[in-house]
Amino acid sequence: MPPQVHQALSPVSPAHCRGGFLRRLLRRLDSWEAVERRRGRPPGKAWWGHLPFLVLHLACLAVLWVGFSWTALAVAAGLYFLRMFAVTAFYHRYFAHRAFRAGRKAQFVFAVLGASAVQRGPLWWAAHHRHHHRASDREDDVHSPRHHGFWGSHVGWILKPENARTRLELIPDFARFPELRFLDRYDTLVPALLALALFGLGELLASLAPGLGTDGWQLLVWGFVVSTVVLYHGTFVINSLCHVWGRQRYATGDDSRNNFWLALITLGEGWHNNHHRYPNSARQGFFWWELDVSYALLRVLERLGVVRDLRPVPERILRAAAGTA
Ligand SMILES: [Zn+2]
Ligand SMILES: [Zn+2]
Repeated sequence: MPPQVHQALSPVSPAHCRGGFLRRLLRRLDSWEAVERRRGRPPGKAWWGHLPFLVLHLACLAVLWVGFSWTALAVAAGLYFLRMFAVTAFYHRYFAHRAFRAGRKAQFVFAVLGASAVQRGPLWWAAHHRHHHRASDREDDVHSPRHHGFWGSHVGWILKPENARTRLELIPDFARFPELRFLDRYDTLVPALLALALFGLGELLASLAPGLGTDGWQLLVWGFVVSTVVLYHGTFVINSLCHVWGRQRYATGDDSRNNFWLALITLGEGWHNNHHRYPNSARQGFFWWELDVSYALLRVLERLGVVRDLRPVPERILRAAAGTA
């Protein structure tokens, strides 16, 4: 994407910020501009871009320093669950596949919740995923285990500079919303606020309820660092393991599989062969015995009036699964 196109699409152009400090801060946080800056850097210097991802993994060792409490573990598990739901139901089923409908305010909340998973912004995430479905397990599928090996499909593709750009051309339907472009461009903002909130909550609990045995650093390490790293790999297994391990119900022409264990840890995404057969459905477990927690929660949100028009699986595809079509 040429810089001038980024500029035109930007909701907050640094040129419009007159305050020197604010302008510098926005430039620092601007992930779109960072991609442009890194373009053309010698490969030896490109690894600097991986530093935050590596540091977050290493920071898990800080559990040895901050210690353990059941409160910290509960916060980490709760944030894993909430953010996994946000990634699967909103980043994936809503933004990438438009599997249901929602109002603009709800859509913004979905994007904020998804951004808290520290997997870049909604447009970057959904655009790359749309490309995955167009090119499943072909050479240009950036996370195909068949072509790029297991680790290449699991984490390697995220670390490659050529995959850092938000492919706006693949997601014009959502890129037209300035609030989504803002979240995508300043994709570290929500994670930073979450980290700060966790530290503040921990300090508050340390003074109001010392019996819980927690504090700011402990909640930051368990609730943000550990939970986010586990969430990374919980999500990435769909790109790697779910194209390698499991059963193929449908001859989709790619390597996608159905796998109960992966569906369990990803709240329903493990029915990946089903999903490749019919990506636009709000449900990925096509039958009641195929556990799909995200779909069950979307049904609750539908009853509450937050989302509507959940797209079903066509009857012919269900019949084909039963071998009767
Ligand atoms: Zn896939
Ligand atoms: Zn998909």
